[in-house]
Amino acid sequence: MFKKNNYISLAEKGGKKPEVPEGLWKKCNVCKAAILAQDVKDGGYICPKCHNYFRIDTRQRIRMISDEGSFQEWDVGLQTKNPLHYKGYEEKIRMLQEKTGLDEAVVTGSVMIQGIKTAVGICDSRFIMASMGEVVGEKVTRMVERATKEKLPVILFACSGGARMQEGIISLMQMAKTAAALKRHSDAGLLYLSVLTNPTMGGVTASFAMLGDVILAEPGALIGFAGPRVIEQTIGQKLPEGFQKAEFLLEHGFIDRIVERKELKITIAKILLLHQKRKVPAIEKWEGKEVKSDMKPMVSAWERVQQSRRKDRPTGRDYIKHLFTDFIEFQGDRCYKEDKAILGGVAEFQGIPVTVIAQEKGGNTKESIVHNFGMPSPEGYRKALRLMKQAEKFGRPVVCFVDTPGAFCGVEAEERGQGEAIARNLLEMSNLKVPVLSIVIGEGGSGGALALAVADEVWMLENSIYSILSPEGFASILWKDSKRAKEAAGIMRLTAEDLRRMNVVEQVIPEEVNFSKECMEKVGRKLEKSIRAFLGKYQNMTVEELIEHRYERFRKY
Ligand SMILES: [Zn+2]
Repeated sequence: MFKKNNYISLAEKGGKKPEVPEGLWKKCNVCKAAILAQDVKDGGYICPKCHNYFRIDTRQRIRMISDEGSFQEWDVGLQTKNPLHYKGYEEKIRMLQEKTGLDEAVVTGSVMIQGIKTAVGICDSRFIMASMGEVVGEKVTRMVERATKEKLPVILFACSGGARMQEGIISLMQMAKTAAALKRHSDAGLLYLSVLTNPTMGGVTASFAMLGDVILAEPGALIGFAGPRVIEQTIGQKLPEGFQKAEFLLEHGFIDRIVERKELKITIAKILLLHQKRKVPAIEKWEGKEVKSDMKPMVSAWERVQQSRRKDRPTGRDYIKHLFTDFIEFQGDRCYKEDKAILGGVAEFQGIPVTVIAQEKGGNTKESIVHNFGMPSPEGYRKALRLMKQAEKFGRPVVCFVDTPGAFCGVEAEERGQGEAIARNLLEMSNLKVPVLSIVIGEGGSGGALALAVADEVWMLENSIYSILSPEGFASILWKDSKRAKEAAGIMRLTAEDLRRMNVVEQVIPEEVNFSKECMEKVGRKLEKSIRAFLGKYQNMTVEELIEHRYERFRKY
């Protein structure tokens, strides 16, 4: 006889364990409501009362995300060994094999998702809480290796109590083995999409689950390294509500998005599509002509400063919406926090996948608070860099929209290395191996702006500004009187026109009269045309030419 607890790992002991009810009527084990089993099944295995996500088995998961009948299973029949000669382990495995019809806790293979072939691995919690022993590690590794060879993306649905205790140190080694295989897959320029489901814990979190280029999670999923019960016992305190839930991880910058089950297939398909190798559509040759701006005469620098700060000016996301299609936001720095002052992700520009990164001020007071008035923290710059390195891996051009009064100035920002984060971006952007375009759309405030503007070209909207410091700050430092900002603006040479003349920017984008969110057609058309030309020019350069050009662009100052 086996005691049930012998076969679940430490991490899994904490928290509620919702199971799909069997039979006609069952109780949801979270809200205790009586629910019709058929309703649960039809609703994507979600409790119709409390919206709790039930665990789903492999077969259901495959049906939910893949094109019908497209699944082909790989590497069946690997033998589970018993390296510790753990009493009763073989019998337990045999019993589970019979009960579940699975050979082990992960199923691997290939599927088509909206016509795109991908390698896939799905953990099944019915099998010793999908803990990772040798066979699980081996199947994941073989799947990743085969995907590398066949140039396929990898999708892994993680759900695990962690490393399998019954196989001891051999289980621990699976963490290194799977990570190493994923490194090779990544170095081959291939996409790895990790989907975290309830629960993803321990050695699985600390290996393949957290290594996705893109990490999605199901709502409410428990995700962590140490289990909540273990942490509570260690620190002798109760953990706050929502601790280690998917929403907590999103806020702390560790996952890109939380995706509802019903949206999962379409979201995955969209991400796969944006990462497909495709021929870049032919773009007309760069005309190289100087752009004449129809600037209105006698507009003072101070008036431009005020224009650049107007509340009804389009913000980063307005440009993203206007110029690109299929934008999908990716969040988090994978380190500390998600910073809403910077918005980033992947989108298409006229059939070309691009990475877009925008400083976002928000449209009204409430939004401005959420976006910290467009003043990024170190984690915002680190997220931007993460997305740029991802763009480099997948050969996507990067388009940045600059609009910040400056990097956030505060105690926490200093503690987490604001200066280091900005410096790191300058360093890495200087030799990013893909074209980079930065467009100043409002305020280009100091180092906080430059950290997104080490680009092949920098453009400015006619009424945007770009400067070493705000005019108020300039007047305050040099004249000890911030009220002389207007006068400072007059001598700082911070207007688009000034900066074009000084060769700090390549293009000035003329604004229509009363340019605003509601009225950005003309600017949009101009930008579209110019971005096309930009891509035509820089995508045809070799990596060496591109980096040399960018180096010289800044070397000349
Ligand atoms: Zn419920």
